[in-house]
Amino acid sequence: MRHVLALQCIHCGKQHDPGDVDYYCPLCGYHEGILDVLYDYEAVKAEMDPVTFSAGGPRSMWRYLPLLPVAEPERISHLQVGWTPLYRASRLAETLDVADCWVKDEGRNPTASFKDRASAVGVLKAMERGASRITCASTGNAASSLAGFAAAAGLPASIFVPKRAPEAKVAQLLVFGAQVFSVQGTYDQAWELCMAASSHFGWYNRNCAINAYLIEGKKTVALELVEQFRERGAFPDWVVVSVGDGCTIGGVWKGFKEMQRIGWIEKTPKILGVQAAGCQPFVTAWREGKRLTPCEADTLADSIAVGHPRNFVKGLRAVTESGGAYVAVPDQAILEAMTTLARKAAVFGEPAGATGVAGVQEARRQGIIGPDDVVAVIVTGNGLKDIASAIRAAGLPVPVDPALDAVRRVASP
Ligand SMILES: *Cc1c(COP(=O)(O)O)cnc(C)c1O
Ligand SMILES: [Zn+2]
Repeated sequence: MRHVLALQCIHCGKQHDPGDVDYYCPLCGYHEGILDVLYDYEAVKAEMDPVTFSAGGPRSMWRYLPLLPVAEPERISHLQVGWTPLYRASRLAETLDVADCWVKDEGRNPTASFKDRASAVGVLKAMERGASRITCASTGNAASSLAGFAAAAGLPASIFVPKRAPEAKVAQLLVFGAQVFSVQGTYDQAWELCMAASSHFGWYNRNCAINAYLIEGKKTVALELVEQFRERGAFPDWVVVSVGDGCTIGGVWKGFKEMQRIGWIEKTPKILGVQAAGCQPFVTAWREGKRLTPCEADTLADSIAVGHPRNFVKGLRAVTESGGAYVAVPDQAILEAMTTLARKAAVFGEPAGATGVAGVQEARRQGIIGPDDVVAVIVTGNGLKDIASAIRAAGLPVPVDPALDAVRRVASP
């Protein structure tokens, strides 16, 4: 917290002292009063000089400690989170008909999704607060991620997941030892129940939308992209990310703005937000210039099946401020993107992880992204998280008897 100046409400603009508020602006409540962490950027700049910074520091998100709200860094766990690989994927670029395509593989995090960046910070904040238990509601990945980081810290966790959460994610939670509530309802209902339980029992709340510190973890993916692109002598015109609650895209945008502010980049990339056609409240609001209208969620991309996004303002702002766009893609395109990403770039993403690739195709079709543009797609979660969808995307193997003849009859030349 060395350089944290205040927590500012994105609704009323009031700046709060971090010691005075727990999660959201007390004047505006948790629907509107989402906070933003403000730093002393001059002080950060002095510690993160682009020329001298890159050589040192841990190869994890903790290399950006001057831009993180951590008071007790000695509590950071042993798990390596962040500094995930950035691949140049030329064959994928060809398929997508763009000048160049880069893939940031967030499935390489400790519990195999982008959510680890947020959970790492959430568990630290809970420990700093002396919390006895931490909770969240999640479509799956935030849950398994929180369970992993809570296990690393020895902190008990109680987690709410909707009944449609994929089995692999629920298995992960249980293995890490969290208490798991399978809510017989939607994610939105799980979220409200978690909020109620958190305030009733006094459990520390890791819900990303209402806990401003978590987006700080998420933004580190942008800090990494800036640093990794600098090493490679390239920079994308577009950064592409799938969107559910809007915390990820909001964090990505905050990260780029802060890197601009401290002098690492002159120009920020445009942000492309991608939603599933069966659940696209951001796309609708962006296109029609309207406020949020919650909807029913109907998509196999469970991680972005969020009918009532909890971070609507930040999620919309990322696209409008960056001069980017929102697009929606049908489930069929998401399934095809899973195999395209795997076959052209050898990265196996879960449906929401590959949704960005489908989004690039859609944005090319609409002429939003041009053939000379360079894109960077954030693959937010690993494909092993949701095997049923992977099999839907790729089909089944060829059964053969254990004899060469049997293989000869069906083998590809
Ligand atoms: C959570 C998640 C997202 C979307 O993040 P939001 O903050 O909900 O917008 C995208 N992909 C994966 C794999 C996720 O787990
Ligand atoms: Zn407020």
